[in-house]
Amino acid sequence: MFECDNTNLVNPNWAKHGYIQVYTGNGKGKTTASLGLAMRALGRCWKVLIIMFTKGGDDYGELNSFRNLSPEISQNLTIVQAGLDRIVYSDNKTENDKEEIKKGWELAKKAIKNDEYNLIILDEANIAIDLGFIDLDEMLDVLKNKPDEMEIVLTGRNANPKIIEIAHLVSEIKPVKHYWDKGISARKGIEY
Ligand code: ATP
Ligand code: MG
Repeated sequence: MFECDNTNLVNPNWAKHGYIQVYTGNGKGKTTASLGLAMRALGRCWKVLIIMFTKGGDDYGELNSFRNLSPEISQNLTIVQAGLDRIVYSDNKTENDKEEIKKGWELAKKAIKNDEYNLIILDEANIAIDLGFIDLDEMLDVLKNKPDEMEIVLTGRNANPKIIEIAHLVSEIKPVKHYWDKGISARKGIEY
């Protein structure tokens, strides 16, 4: 039986090494990479916060999984949805989308400032910045002043060059091929 005790703490140097990671690009795998990282960190008893910007509703396979983890693991996980149950683009964005994102961002800022987690995943934060719903300068300020030991991941297309500049790890996923281009839309279990 897995237990979160001192023997399960991460390697002794971890506290000195909290980095800012960015998963961007037009290829598939940004959000799922961050969720995989969350699973890995939870397995080391890290406290993890996932904020899903621009995503609302229950129709995400990952929510079903994360909500049904063992109590030992799930006690360290918080998931917050900061969006409506629809896909937001620059040409359909509304004040309601903005409000949802703002709520998530306020919560993220507080969690970062108060050093409440070991890993914070800001899923689709790049999109929220790109849409103008999270202020870029404020995000830069918050990231630059994050607690030393905290790891923060930003996902989403169109990562801002200034975010890329201050990040320590940036992965750009390139769509060498994508079935989307053949007219295959999002599939349950694969894309959501
Ligand atoms: P995953 O969640 O599988 O890791 P991702 O986070 O890399 O993927 P996003 O960029 O967040 O992917 O895209 C979200 C959704 O946009 C995908 O699930 C897909 O249905 C849709 N999509 C994929 N390619 C395109 C495209 N070229 N144009 C518009 N929408 C796309
Ligand atoms: Mg994504």
